[in-house]
Amino acid sequence: MIDYHLHGNFSGHGTGDLAEYVEAAVARGFTEIGFSDHLPKVVDPDPYHAMLEENLPRYVERVLELREANRGRIAIKLGIEADFFEGYEAETKRLLESQPFDYVLGALHFLGDWHFTSKEGLARFASEAPVEAFPKYFEKLKRMIKTGLFDIVAHPDALRRGAFQPARSMEKEHREVAQLLAGGGMAIEINTAGIRRGAGSVYPERSFFAACVAEGVPVTVGSDAHSPGDVGKDFKAAFMLLGEFGVSEVATYEKRRLAGAPLGERRDNA
Ligand SMILES: [Zn+2]
Ligand SMILES: [Zn+2]
Repeated sequence: MIDYHLHGNFSGHGTGDLAEYVEAAVARGFTEIGFSDHLPKVVDPDPYHAMLEENLPRYVERVLELREANRGRIAIKLGIEADFFEGYEAETKRLLESQPFDYVLGALHFLGDWHFTSKEGLARFASEAPVEAFPKYFEKLKRMIKTGLFDIVAHPDALRRGAFQPARSMEKEHREVAQLLAGGGMAIEINTAGIRRGAGSVYPERSFFAACVAEGVPVTVGSDAHSPGDVGKDFKAAFMLLGEFGVSEVATYEKRRLAGAPLGERRDNA
């Protein structure tokens, strides 16, 4: 099994040396992992949210060092999690092409000036209206996919954090997103942090996942661990979802190319 969404201490809000994540993954039976710390922000650089650009080469070097040191033990991929900042696509592209990434997670963490995935952003869930926020979120997600800058959509409906729920069914939006993903050859991530962050399930929710499977969208799995203890956390829920929809392969990546990989025998990383 893979865990393709691991952070670390290159960003200010993560803890633990990357080597500790590798050890945790080996101990939990993973055959392949990928680091995906935050790409430097192309707008308002902020070392708490994402590493600064001057540290990006050091991050890459560290992951590649660990890959060599652990060869034959566990496969380690060089990923990155990149925000979609509209109007800054060229700058984002420049950063993404500056390093030999295996895959790029595209992610929304901001809706206007609302950093909804941050601790400070949590307070705004009480005053924001789901009836407006969810359609806005999905419109932005569709624009993100259309840029073609990213390989995998990370935490596809992270706006559900803290039990924030759409005011109506998002089925139409889910279908549209799934079609765009299929058309663009992109994958979707099952992100188990939804459980830890009060969404009541993994991201994406069941109906969203169903729409993606119906379109044949490839799937990766990630814990979004920001500490070594969270590597592979709640993967039982991801396995259940995959099993329910008969998905027997997870996608893996190399040099930004998609490859399939069997799920493997170890299904008990709860
Ligand atoms: Zn994220
Ligand atoms: Zn993340």
